Amino acid sequence: MSTAGQVIRCKAAVAWEAGKPLSIEEVEVAPPQKHEVRLKILFTSLCHTDVYFWEAKGQQPLFPRIFGHEAGGVVESVGEGVTELRPGDHVLPVFTGECKECAHCKSEESNMCDLLRINTDRGTMINDGQSRFSKDGKPIYHFVGTSTFSEYTVCHVGSVAKINPAAPLDKVCVLSCGICTGFGATVNVAKPKKGSSIAIFGLGAVGLAAAEGARVSGCSRIIGVDLNASRFEEAKKFGVNEFVNPKDHNKPVQEVIAEMTNGGVDRSVECTGSIQAMISAFECVHDGWGLAVLVGVPNKDDAFKTHPMNFLNERTLKGTFYGNYKPRTDLPGVVEMYMNKGLEVDKFITHSVPFAEINKAFDLMLSGQSIRCIIRMEN
Ligand code: NAD
Ligand code: ZN
Repeated sequence: MSTAGQVIRCKAAVAWEAGKPLSIEEVEVAPPQKHEVRLKILFTSLCHTDVYFWEAKGQQPLFPRIFGHEAGGVVESVGEGVTELRPGDHVLPVFTGECKECAHCKSEESNMCDLLRINTDRGTMINDGQSRFSKDGKPIYHFVGTSTFSEYTVCHVGSVAKINPAAPLDKVCVLSCGICTGFGATVNVAKPKKGSSIAIFGLGAVGLAAAEGARVSGCSRIIGVDLNASRFEEAKKFGVNEFVNPKDHNKPVQEVIAEMTNGGVDRSVECTGSIQAMISAFECVHDGWGLAVLVGVPNKDDAFKTHPMNFLNERTLKGTFYGNYKPRTDLPGVVEMYMNKGLEVDKFITHSVPFAEINKAFDLMLSGQSIRCIIRMEN
């Protein structure tokens, strides 16, 4: 029996308050409106961005909210005007969308869609400013247009990439955020040359994906920087071949790296969210040609401070969301790269839990044990 056009009652993990364990509740999910689709989520995973906004320490609090933005699922029904997707399509929702019509979407260089670019403060749909989730008639806010910690969710069609139905959703779901973000930051933005050196700040999933990009690009020195030494062993599997723990030195880590590399690395990619690491990542690149790429999401009051001479000396600073990938245009190709074994994804998945135990995924991430923990919606 088709559920199209009807309210669906299903389970969702609701965050009622900042930092409090999620609670699995029965919620109502309204049908998709114009240019929206309703998805049945099959697998989702936890990314640190969910944790930051759930903790809401350095971020705007907005509760109750359904988090989750790394996921794979199937289209359940489509709203008015949706022609590119149909029920049954296999899809990955993405936190930053692609309308295909604005100047950014038409530019080869940008993925910063005017209509659907990441907006962490908005908790409603852009069509009518309302939420599609409710419990006992009270709205529950969305998160970055995806809210995948729910058996069903509603997304704008521009935030949903249709992928090869043969791709295993329990694996490729991690491409919907972290892995593409780090991999793309290296291959699309840092663009290191074969045989060059690169420093990766932060060896979580995003940083390890940046390292995977460096490995695929043929970098010879891949220097991993992390405050947590327990990440180093794992990082060897991702091609990281030198390690620096800022805690082991009594001078700034950028100076340590400059000494190791005869003046600085050719490229750096920052994947921590720490403002200090962002500054170090910029200041550790070689003058004349060095390029640093910021990926970590800063706290709302952070400010980047460096001496302007660092720029005059021909260092470049860039930043990127989602590794500069356009979700609808590029993500299907990244999935194909995985299918053709050009990109390794399975090694990022260290844990898996059923939906009922979603809070365990938070514990595993907060204690630094997991790279990616898959949350299985159905069993
Ligand atoms: P994670 O917590 O798994 O990994 C972060 C790592 O950084 C940890 O190992 C931690 O020990 C290390 N770290 C923290 N502060 C450090 C410092 N000062 N110096 C060195 N290492 C430090 O997180 P993740 O899921 O890999 O995400 C990394 C960052 O990327 C987060 O800020 C996340 O919000 C952000 N992110 C950005 C995008 C984007 O499109 N730009 C997308 C996804 C995630
Ligand atoms: Zn656009």
